[in-house]
Amino acid sequence: MSRPPFADWLSQTNDVTSTFLAAGQIPGLINLAGGLPDPSAWPVTELAELAQEAVRDFPAESLAYGPVPGQPRLRDAIAARFSTDALPLTRDNVLVTTGGTQALAALGLALVMTGQTIAVQTPAYLGALDTWRARGPDYRPMVLEDADFDPVAAMTGAQFAYTVPNFSNPSGRLVGTDQRRALIDAARRTGTWLVEDDPYGALYYDGAPLPSMLEMAGTDSPVIYLGTVSKELAPGLRIGWAIAAPEMIAALSAAKQGTDMFSSGLCQMVTALAFERGLPEAIRPHILSMYRARRDALCEALETHLSDWFTWEKPEGGMFVWARARDGRLNTDALMRAGLTEGVCISPSSVFDPEHRDHGGMRLNFTLNPPDELEEGIRRLARTTRAVLRD
Ligand code: PMP
Repeated sequence: MSRPPFADWLSQTNDVTSTFLAAGQIPGLINLAGGLPDPSAWPVTELAELAQEAVRDFPAESLAYGPVPGQPRLRDAIAARFSTDALPLTRDNVLVTTGGTQALAALGLALVMTGQTIAVQTPAYLGALDTWRARGPDYRPMVLEDADFDPVAAMTGAQFAYTVPNFSNPSGRLVGTDQRRALIDAARRTGTWLVEDDPYGALYYDGAPLPSMLEMAGTDSPVIYLGTVSKELAPGLRIGWAIAAPEMIAALSAAKQGTDMFSSGLCQMVTALAFERGLPEAIRPHILSMYRARRDALCEALETHLSDWFTWEKPEGGMFVWARARDGRLNTDALMRAGLTEGVCISPSSVFDPEHRDHGGMRLNFTLNPPDELEEGIRRLARTTRAVLRD
């Protein structure tokens, strides 16, 4: 049989990725692999009321074909949410997207041709790598925690530099204010766009959030800021946004037009009403206290059951703990596969590397499961680790 033309493209998705993405379906399995919010965090009653109001009172906005860059009312609400005295934003600075994922895809379509370079904070967000794969870019890893990391060298000649400064997926790491400033300066010096992907900025458990690079850079900015309602309201709404200079918004909007014309009008209206009425802020205390307790439970379980084999840092926010193997022989692809038979699933470091190399690390999610399940999951993982090291 002749190979279909897309076979080469498909063969670039490795089996570890598809196995761990499918693992959530196995009954009884404790899934530490995903990045899912707890369903009890969704404001179901409020969203049901807003959806009814949107269709009843705003049928044209909710149900007709809509403008490509988004409903003016939602663009205004997003501009208002992110404006400061030093950074007055208007709807021209805002593109509404179908989840943050579409903003990432639009960046690839608008800015990257085959063989061009994207500088990527590494370990890298798997979903971003997926959206850019068909463009065939060259990746330049940016390991921000390396003492000799040089942002100017990393950004020179790149189409854009991709970062997740707040509680990165997968590393859980918070980029400090000095490094944020250094990234902005390097973007200005090199003329490279600096992408600040921020789905986790509202999930901070210790202390106050840091100013965003968008805010720090002020007007005339090299920053393209990406946001989403997925972690603050519900991922099923599929509403995200990009905030940037109007020329960049126009370029991203042109890229979006060819993929879905416009994001769901109904979901845009629900989001606009939710933002105008402060729904994310109203439910945030509950979400933060639930996730803070789960983060603490996961870290305690790691201390009790896995500290002989792994090191980690307690993240100050977000959804993930990144654990590194003390023993270089521990392959986390093997650990993931063996874990499935013990009833636990982790995300191995290879899925966060553009070349799928194992780095002896793993990402553990703490938002989906209650504390007792998290502890049981880590207990199972300890059994699995012992077995893998014995084999
Ligand atoms: N960026 C990062 C770093 C993420 O972790 C996610 C969600 N997993 C997204 C973007 C996009 O999410 P969504 O498409 O649901 O808005």
